[in-house]
Amino acid sequence: MSYHAFQAHTLISTPEQLASALDIPLAPLQAVHSVYPLRISAYYLDLIKKTGVPLWKQAVPDIRELEDSTGLIDPLDEENLSPVPFLVHKYPDRALFLVCNECAMYCRFCTRKRKVGKPEMMINDRTIAAGLEYLAKTPTITDVLVSGGDPLMLSDNRLESILKALRAIPSVSTIRIGTRIPCTLPMRVTPKLAAMLKKYHPLYINTHFNHPAEITAEATLACRLLADAGIPLGCQTVLLRGINDSPYIIKQLMNLLLKIRVKPYYLFQADLTRGTSHFRTTIDTGLGIMQHLIGHISGMAVPTYALDAPGGGGKIPLTPDYIKNLGKVLEFETYLGLPCSYPNEISPV
Ligand SMILES: *Cc1c(COP(=O)(O)O)cnc(C)c1O
Ligand code: SF4
Repeated sequence: MSYHAFQAHTLISTPEQLASALDIPLAPLQAVHSVYPLRISAYYLDLIKKTGVPLWKQAVPDIRELEDSTGLIDPLDEENLSPVPFLVHKYPDRALFLVCNECAMYCRFCTRKRKVGKPEMMINDRTIAAGLEYLAKTPTITDVLVSGGDPLMLSDNRLESILKALRAIPSVSTIRIGTRIPCTLPMRVTPKLAAMLKKYHPLYINTHFNHPAEITAEATLACRLLADAGIPLGCQTVLLRGINDSPYIIKQLMNLLLKIRVKPYYLFQADLTRGTSHFRTTIDTGLGIMQHLIGHISGMAVPTYALDAPGGGGKIPLTPDYIKNLGKVLEFETYLGLPCSYPNEISPV
């Protein structure tokens, strides 16, 4: 069975299907669905049933999505930073190239909630050609982040045609794919897909897991197939209230990611996206979590906690403050909270 056939058999995409699958009231689902899309794979629905709240909240529409008037439609100002539609050029040497408007699951906290999964997000051969043309005539861009939506929702052939076209641009050295599929629809990752991706190195994949319960046997297999194809795997976790905003959960998640050969890359403070305010927690909470990680677990398992600056300023690392005083002597605290110092002067010649 192809993954398209698999999807056709197993995706939940209407309020009616979801209400009956989880035995919950239909009206709130319908209200939210009239504004934002809904999709859950049968695989993830099963996990929700096994695990409960932390996975439920990521996937099941909540009426609070409609009650948030403070959030920003486009918190990172991506539309203004797009020289051509669906290509965001924010940093000099890298660009974000949106090649698919669909995902295997529509996360309720999605930063691109304004358009992902909606018909207005009209990605087609023409927009892809325009993006490629921009990349070809902008040789300062050496690192292209292929994203969406989720690029692995494309067929192998279509994705390959995009990767091939990117590889034909001499100035593009690194290709990164951003995908949540290893978490939300891991059976989409087949040996055939891995063999195709392998032809386009240096290729990196950043995936997206938010909770230890998402690290299943199926997800482990998907990551193994990709890692065995020589693709370094990273993870971009989002800090979400009531889902993973505790040191214990994040620590467990980061250690499990390493175990399935995924290097934690970013832990994101949630963006100010409209419809997602109920997911946001404070920066103090995030910094406290980082203090529980740094020094206490393998440095390989410690992500960079970062905020994507509202208005398109880029990602800013948020680091707990170990420095207590910086003068002729640096006074700092160790990860255990013990005072320590280091001379901050060079010796006379
Ligand atoms: C996150 C992002 C990047 C990549 O940033 P890194 O810190 O290099 O991972 C590039 N472009 C845009 C628009 C982004 O949002
Ligand atoms: S998989 Fe990523 S792009 Fe798709 S809905 Fe979730 S957060 Fe948004």
